[in-house]
Formats: sequence, C-alpha cells, structure tokens
Amino acid sequence: MTQEAHVTQGPLTTEAGAPVADNQNSETAGVGGPVLVQDQALLEKLAHFNRERIPERVVHARGAGAYGTFTVTRDVSRWTRAKFLSEVGKQTETFLRFSTVAGNLGSADAVRDPRGFALKFYTEEGNYDLVGNNTPVFFIKDAIKFPDFIHTQKRDPYTGSQEADNVWDFWGLSPESTHQVTWLFGDRGIPATLRHMNGYGSHTFQWNNEAGEVFWVKYHFKTDQGIKNLTTEEAVRLSGVDPDSHQRDLRESIERGDFPSWTVQVQIMPAADAATYRFNPFDLTKVWPHADYPPIEIGKLELNRNPQNIFAEVEQSIFSPAHFVPGIGPSPDKMLQGRLFAYGDAHRYRVGINADHLPVNRPHATEARTNSRDGLLYDGRHQGAKNYEPNSFGGPVQTDRPLWQPLPVTGTTGSTVAPSHAEDDDFVQAGTLYRLMSEDEKGRLVDNLAGFISQVSRDGIAERAIDNFRQADGDFGKRLEAAVQALRG
Ligand code: NDP
Repeated sequence: MTQEAHVTQGPLTTEAGAPVADNQNSETAGVGGPVLVQDQALLEKLAHFNRERIPERVVHARGAGAYGTFTVTRDVSRWTRAKFLSEVGKQTETFLRFSTVAGNLGSADAVRDPRGFALKFYTEEGNYDLVGNNTPVFFIKDAIKFPDFIHTQKRDPYTGSQEADNVWDFWGLSPESTHQVTWLFGDRGIPATLRHMNGYGSHTFQWNNEAGEVFWVKYHFKTDQGIKNLTTEEAVRLSGVDPDSHQRDLRESIERGDFPSWTVQVQIMPAADAATYRFNPFDLTKVWPHADYPPIEIGKLELNRNPQNIFAEVEQSIFSPAHFVPGIGPSPDKMLQGRLFAYGDAHRYRVGINADHLPVNRPHATEARTNSRDGLLYDGRHQGAKNYEPNSFGGPVQTDRPLWQPLPVTGTTGSTVAPSHAEDDDFVQAGTLYRLMSEDEKGRLVDNLAGFISQVSRDGIAERAIDNFRQADGDFGKRLEAAVQALRG
C-alpha cells in the first residue's frame, strides 16, 4: 500500500472532531493583537506536539520492521507441542523488528553493532516472541552485568560521547566478551542490509512435546539473500551520505515485491545431554558447534508487508522473551532469565500498561482473556464482564497445564559460579571463530580492532584487552599487538 492511499476525506478537525476554520493563523485579539487562550485548536495542537515522543528504548532504539509469514517445512511434533509448528505447510503471521543496539533513535544504520532480530509470531495460542540478534552469542552471560555493559556502549557522563576507554575497560575486564567481540569486529559486524544477514534466537530454549519430554533448542535464521557485509570504510561513508540506508532498503525491497526470506533451522539437544555436554549449554557466550548438534531445517520466514505507520507499528511494537506459547519455555540461561523480567518492565514504563493491546502487539487469532483492567489508555474492551476469577458468570478459567515442563533443581542458593562443564573457558570459541576466518578477514578483523583499541588513553586497558585475544589464539594476539603499536607510533 502506498502512502497516498491513506489520504482521508473531509475537513481538518480538532482531536474532538470539530472542524478547524484556520490552520495557518492563530486567533488574536484584534488584527495583530496577542493570541487568545480560547484558540483551543492552537493549544491542543502545540500540547499534542510536545508529547509526540515517548521514552526512547534504552537499547535497540533505532529500528525498522516488517510483517511476514512463517511456514513450517518439517514435522517437529516429536519435539514440541506448539500448535503453530504442528504440521508441514502451516502458516503463521509475524512481525520482525530489526535494530541496532547502542545508537540513539536518530543514529545511522551502517554502523558496527549487533542487530536486533526481534520476531513476533501471532499464533493461535497467543503471541510467541523470539527476541534475538544477528549474532549467535552475546558479550556477557549474566543479566546483572547488562546495565554496566550498556553504560560503556552509550555516552560517557562527562564527555557525552562513546569512549574507547570505557568500552575496552569493560570488555578487557569481562573476558567472556571475547567471542562476541571477535564476531563483531569481523566481516559480519556491519551487514550490508538487514536482508543480507542471519538471525539467531541466541539463547537456549526449552521445547516440550505432548508426552512431556524436554529438549533444549537453539534457533537459526539463515538469510536466503546470502551474507553481504560492508567494510569499515564503506560503512563510514554510507553512514554520512545515507544514514537511513538499512531502513530504506528493507522498505523498498518489500514495496517492489522482492520479499526477503530466511530458512529457519534449529539445533536440538535431548535434555539428558545438558549435564555432560562439553560446554554449559545455557551459556550465552557460546554456540553449540554444528558438528555436535547439526542444524535441522524446520521452516521459512518471509517478510512481505511494510508497516503503514512507523510510530504505531515499529516504535510502539513490544517484544518480550517471556512471551511463550504451550510447548516452548525458558532455559536456565542467566541472561535469558534476566530478560524475562526486564523487557516487560521496559514496555510498561515506555509504552504503558496497555501496550499489549495496541494493534501491532495484540494476538491475531485469539484474544487476551485476563482479569486485568483499566490503567492509562484502557480501551474498555472487556465491557461489563466480571473482573475476577473464580467466578460464577462463565469467565475464563485456568488450564492447569503449564506451557513448559518443570526443571529439576539441586544445591543451595547463592551467586557463586564455577565451571560446570569440561570446556567452559572464555576463549576457546573465540579462537575457533578466528581460525575459521580467511586470511583476508583475519587482517580486516585485526585492523578493525586495532583502530578502536589504539584510541584508549588509560594505561593497562589496551594491554588487558589484547591479552584476551591472545588467549583465544596466539597468532591473533600477536598480530593485534603489532597493529596497535603501529597505530600508536
Ligand atoms: P561450523 O563450521 O559448524 O559453523 C560455522 C558457522 O560459522 C556457520 O554457521 C557459518 O555461518 C558461521 N561463519 C562462517 N564464517 C563466519 C565468519 N567469518 N564470522 C562469523 N560467522 C561465520 O563451526 P562451529 O559450529 O564449530 O562454529 C565455529 C564458530 O563459528 C563459532 O565459534 C562461532 O563463532 C561461529 N558461528 C557458529 C554458529 C553455530 O551455531 N555453531 C553460528 C554462527 C557462527 P554460515 O553458514 O551462514 O556461513
């Protein structure tokens, strides 16, 4: 649908629907006199304008979105009882919001940053949100570190800019970030477009089948457009000449009927493997090597419809990793557990307590039946229905069947951590990633890292950061150290 199709007929009105006589001149006391308080059309217009912006997302502020269709291509019912995955050929409507992480709403698209890949499935059992990224891992593995991490990515309280000192101080002191940082400064750190990159659920999630058996899964969305990236130089130029490059590319490709698609795969681990697997399978800084758990193709995601109003559908869209449907649930991944709280909390603050009921957020094929009522911008959808349960008036009742299977737990409470699996170190997979890169990509990776690390001013920070890469791979560390020294002169 084009923008012209949205033109409405009839006169301009106030918010209350009364005709507006003059939208060019304020009402004054006499010709050229002071403006009158009785010009309510003026006051209403200025007051509304002052409130056009809602709080910006603290992370993932800059986003672009599109609607699409998910189609099942493989029978997965032996692993999950989720109805939207129940038969080959079944289709589910989706909304996908892409984003950068650190930049503000008005920042450029072509930057080195992970991309959010937040996908809402409007299933018949309610909305299932898979709030992923374009990288399979993350910088940290415990949500308690997230606010500190983001503070280092955002603007310094004194300088008002992102500071190399803060970024590298945190990463150097958080060696678990080495894998994600290696990925980010490699070629895939700046995708050419949102269509030419993969998406990942990143966390491990629980699937459970009709018999109550549990499986751990990881999701992969492999781009059918092929991977295409920008070099640092190309990205710097594009950010200047076309800051909206990714948003525009997505919208225009859908407008011309060139619908981007992704092949959806899962890696599946039987529950019993988790305790003895070589890595902690719930550690967000690690992948499951494909040789251990081969990806299985289960579906196709196609984006085929643009939002018609960016504010209503992209800015006010909300996604929560806690939005599960029967047959799918959380794992003990500590980052995921923190996100189960933090996303809903952010939406309640940013969009309001009735955010779930906005058109882009509400379920399509079912309705939300709760006894929650009222709050800011409540639309009265429950009309006069009783607002408590149990009740004798035919109100909605519980199902007695949890969405996911309970998890056995042992031990005592506390925050102590210890390696629980044989290869639980912070460097092994960063080294694997480095070694799978071509010689050319290794060179670009080292140059990209050196260009940023060489901006560090405080003694010890750069050295500690380089040492993490040395632990991942000796050659990596040696080349990086030499490149940083060369730049520092
Ligand atoms: P595999 O050879 O089985 O898998 C390699 C994976 O790495 C493929 O998914 C491939 O994606 C991706 N890849 C290839 N080149 C690059 C690159 N230059 N930058 C980032 N990703 C790349 O090996 P493993 O499963 O043992 O993984 C090795 C490393 O690959 C990991 O340490 C991880 O960093 C990275 N990786 C692993 C993934 C996983 O789920 N196992 C997923 C993505 C990355 P594609 O097929 O699209 O080219």
